[in-house]
Amino acid sequence: TNKPNRRYTIAVIPGDGIGKEVVPEGVRVLECAAALYGFTVEQRWHDFASCDYYARHGRMMPEDWKERIGSPDAIFFGAVGWPETVPDHISLWGSLLQFRREYDQYVNLRPARLLPGVPSPLAGREPGSIDFWIVRENTEGEYSSVGGHMFAGTDREVVIQETVMTRFGVDRVLRYAFDLANRRPNRHLTSATKSNGIAITMPFWDQRVEAMAARYPDVRWDKYHIDILTAQFVLNPDRFDVVVASNLFGDILSDLGPACTGTIGVAPSGNINPDGTHPSLFEPVHGSAPDIAGKGIANPVGQIWSAAMMLDHLGETAAAAAIMAAIETVLKEPGLRTADLKGKAGTEACGKAIAEALR
Ligand code: ATP
Ligand code: MG
Repeated sequence: TNKPNRRYTIAVIPGDGIGKEVVPEGVRVLECAAALYGFTVEQRWHDFASCDYYARHGRMMPEDWKERIGSPDAIFFGAVGWPETVPDHISLWGSLLQFRREYDQYVNLRPARLLPGVPSPLAGREPGSIDFWIVRENTEGEYSSVGGHMFAGTDREVVIQETVMTRFGVDRVLRYAFDLANRRPNRHLTSATKSNGIAITMPFWDQRVEAMAARYPDVRWDKYHIDILTAQFVLNPDRFDVVVASNLFGDILSDLGPACTGTIGVAPSGNINPDGTHPSLFEPVHGSAPDIAGKGIANPVGQIWSAAMMLDHLGETAAAAAIMAAIETVLKEPGLRTADLKGKAGTEACGKAIAEALR
């Protein structure tokens, strides 16, 4: 559901490299959608969360970044990282991961959707035949720092790392996934598990899925062990609608799914706080791409699709669907595609074409 006044404050953070080239195209399409669908986007641009900012200030973000950002309805992010000047772990920890933690963005959402004009490594699939969402738990699970390393360097060396699952943490991501499935025409959910091998946490995950499913009688659901599931992503991707997974399994699936449906330049993602108590962040899957930065040839589709996801999240579903349709219209035209899709259009030409198609 959208805000009654349909006035959205968006923190716009281009970041580094091609982020600075694709974000303006995303904003162009956003503005166009706002004019056509009668809502208002108030942009607040920020130069931090970038390696340029780091070069000037010795840190990725100002100490008072939360005050400076205020309370926007969402964050529209480009890409961060410039390994030549700042090591990736510093740029990442100092920016995106701060948002994720401080804003409790406990869902990572990525689509796997086959678009026209985008070559898929899966042969013989029609555009539209693959269309599902991957919901990854983003705050706990396998990525904990709980464990120990003993007797290092000796032949008695022991290394332990724990998986942490909480009922609160599991239930909230499952609730989001079931809600999403409930809004989709197919109303189907698949849970990634491995309860035949991981004997404590994964049976708990399965049990919570079952309990949550009972609250969504209209959603059909099934579960797959992660090994079979990865094979099914490649062999039968058309059977999925919403796939929900723990942090590690979700990490793997959310690279595999988009890889089955195209190139890195078109994939979007959301880091979402579904409760609405904090802003969610939308960004393309790709990084800052130093190898092509500054040339005006980056594909803006991942950023523009991220804008559509953001509008969907804000409740502007008609505008979001229209942006997707405009993206598909443009991708059907070889001449309007960027170089990564064997086209000749630059970043700006492609972005303008999508805005034009929207009109
Ligand atoms: P990350 O910064 O997320 O770790 P990375 O640095 O490994 O990712 P990217 O910056 O995403 O990788 O770039 C990987 C490759 O894909 C590069 O060769 C880059 O040029 C290409 N690429 C990435 N995004 C785009 C885009 N939008 N358009 C065209 N090519 C792209
Ligand atoms: Mg990078």
